[in-house]
Amino acid sequence: MLSIKQLNKTYANGVHAINNVSLEIPNGLFGLLGPNGAGKSSLMRTIATLQEPDNGSIHFHGLDVIKEKESLRRQLGYLPQDFGVYPKVSAEDLLNHFAVLKGLTKKSERKEMVEGLLRQTNLWEARKRALGTYSGGMRQRFGIAQALLGAPKLVIVDEPTAGLDPDERNRFLNLLAEIGEQVVVILSTHIVEDVTDLCPRMAMIGKGQVLVQGEPQVAIDALKNKVWRKSVSKAALAEYQSRFNVLATRLVAGKPQINVFSDEQPDDGFIMVEPDLEDVYFLQLRASQTKAQSPANAIA
Ligand code: ADP
Repeated sequence: MLSIKQLNKTYANGVHAINNVSLEIPNGLFGLLGPNGAGKSSLMRTIATLQEPDNGSIHFHGLDVIKEKESLRRQLGYLPQDFGVYPKVSAEDLLNHFAVLKGLTKKSERKEMVEGLLRQTNLWEARKRALGTYSGGMRQRFGIAQALLGAPKLVIVDEPTAGLDPDERNRFLNLLAEIGEQVVVILSTHIVEDVTDLCPRMAMIGKGQVLVQGEPQVAIDALKNKVWRKSVSKAALAEYQSRFNVLATRLVAGKPQINVFSDEQPDDGFIMVEPDLEDVYFLQLRASQTKAQSPANAIA
């Protein structure tokens, strides 16, 4: 269990990037969902001991992360957002090199671990190829392989699916989901489906604050019978947006289709639809922007 309490971080430029964040993160895959600039990377970097918070606490299975950085680092696997590789080196050589840095000094153990990870990430066939020839998805899988060196108990991956095509994204997410039940895996993302498909628990953050945390399905169920859909003309869209609590707008065959949050049918022509996590996300973001309280805030 990773336990974060009342964490704050304000940068020198005055941005309050982490604003009184408290999160309880159990073993398994945990989705941290938020738009660009929400504070996800700031939070990830703080948990990974790469920067200090101003105040608040982080404990990992009882370990005081802020005081005992070295102990945390020994149990940590981290895939940063801007993970770079040496383009001319092969995956096998670089992973072996990282393994040495990680303290895996016994050659036989190291060989076994490197081979195991290359197989697990489906890079075994391509292990001799220079990393510069890898696709985006392969590079991210290599990033996960290096993060898993030394069998970490806490794995942090920061926006790993951005820029991956749907196939590669799926493969990557499945890999994360398989990492293990005895490990905390935090996946930060701005893509709602990353969380819907695989995360048993999640938190949404906006402007440095936790908007909601818990099981995705519980958050979705709280919107049952309250999401209504209608196709409207482009000309009428602005009016609907001003009159109703419009969550998502999609273009379907060139025509805007809107989801509206409302206790009752908002207007003629609206049909009730099953809510999904995207509705929760837009409702939370809107509520945080307008500072209005929404019923979904009550989800534990
Ligand atoms: P996310 O990962 O969700 O996109 P970030 O944590 O990168 O969000 O950024 C949160 C806010 O903090 C943004 O407004 C960003 O501009 C600001 N920020 C991030 N890192 C720094 C930094 N080192 N110095 C100053 N401001 C920063």
